[in-house]
Amino acid sequence: MRTVVTGGAGFIGSHLCERFIAMGHDVICVDNLLTGSRRNLEALEGNPRFQFVEHNVSEPIEIDGPVDNVLHFASPASPVDYLTHPIPTLKVGSLGTHNALGLAKAKDARFLLASTSEVYGDPDVHPQREDYWGNVNPIGPRGCYDEAKRFAEAITMAYHRYHGVKTHIVRIFNTYGPRMRLNDGRVLPNFMKQALRGEPITIYGNGDQTRSFCYVSDLVEGIVRLLAADFAEPVNLGNPAEITVMQLAEEIIALVAGTASKIVHEPLPQDDPRRRRPDISRAQSLLGWNPTIERAEGLKLSLEYFRKAV
Ligand code: NAD
Ligand code: UDP
Repeated sequence: MRTVVTGGAGFIGSHLCERFIAMGHDVICVDNLLTGSRRNLEALEGNPRFQFVEHNVSEPIEIDGPVDNVLHFASPASPVDYLTHPIPTLKVGSLGTHNALGLAKAKDARFLLASTSEVYGDPDVHPQREDYWGNVNPIGPRGCYDEAKRFAEAITMAYHRYHGVKTHIVRIFNTYGPRMRLNDGRVLPNFMKQALRGEPITIYGNGDQTRSFCYVSDLVEGIVRLLAADFAEPVNLGNPAEITVMQLAEEIIALVAGTASKIVHEPLPQDDPRRRRPDISRAQSLLGWNPTIERAEGLKLSLEYFRKAV
């Protein structure tokens, strides 16, 4: 098997590259290092079955030889990152997805799109099921990411229906773990970094907004199972254990024993979703998948990484 991972130098992509190498695949990582790093791939450097190609996938992608799978993970994912790079975000979700689908079609390969719970926007339906169409502000600050991913889903379904490409769409809910960039601005690296440095823990708004955090190894297992399934409609993958941002801050303060950090409040960003929790019944019945790493364990594993990173 030869597997292409776009965005493979990022947080989730690097874990996927390692997983497919462990499964015996040849892996080609295509990444322009916009928000990723070669350091994430250190364990694979020198492996004859692994190849890194530095390339912006919003430009046509050329790969020699056969390809069996294309996993399209290239895109800024942190709100801070996509607000810093709104146009590259729109381009990689639209042009980049078109190019990655074109590669899959040309090679007769399976295609898997990394979509997101952000397609549900600030959801009126809770928990979020795949048949909910969402509540997205197309012209708000998050629109560059949300609408790019919604377009990416639409073109993926069109390639499936019109060209017969074997496609998959995973709607990923907040995922965390080692290799998140310390400064990517997402809540978990922020709180870990702040607690480890004894700096104020910055809660945006009053902290009663909710998220549901999935450990990265659970997500990777779900993605591997979905790639092998005969199913093109979107599938939610995430951990339904929902908590408030305030609870997350308290858990991290308790975990980093002896931290001097105190909670401070900062303004809530515009269009910040009030709540988010996946309904995972589709993944459970289709893939026999359930998350296995509880937050207490996942936070400990992540803290070990962030301790070295600060
Ligand atoms: P990340 O920022 O760590 O990784 C993204 C990778 O894509 C980086 O290595 C970056 O350099 C690369 N990239 C960006 N634009 C590119 C381009 N034009 N050409 C080539 N490479 C490019 O983010 P992540 O958390 O690992 O997210 C990976 C994917 O999963 C993204 O598509 C994201 O939308 C999706 N996702 C992640 C989460 C999450 O909680 N982590 C949730 C929902 C969806
Ligand atoms: N958040 C926060 N403090 C921070 C970073 C984020 O309170 O330092 C909040 C943010 O407003 C949101 C939640 O944490 O409600 C998750 O934010 P993140 O940027 O991780 O991703 P999102 O789930 O919004 O895409």
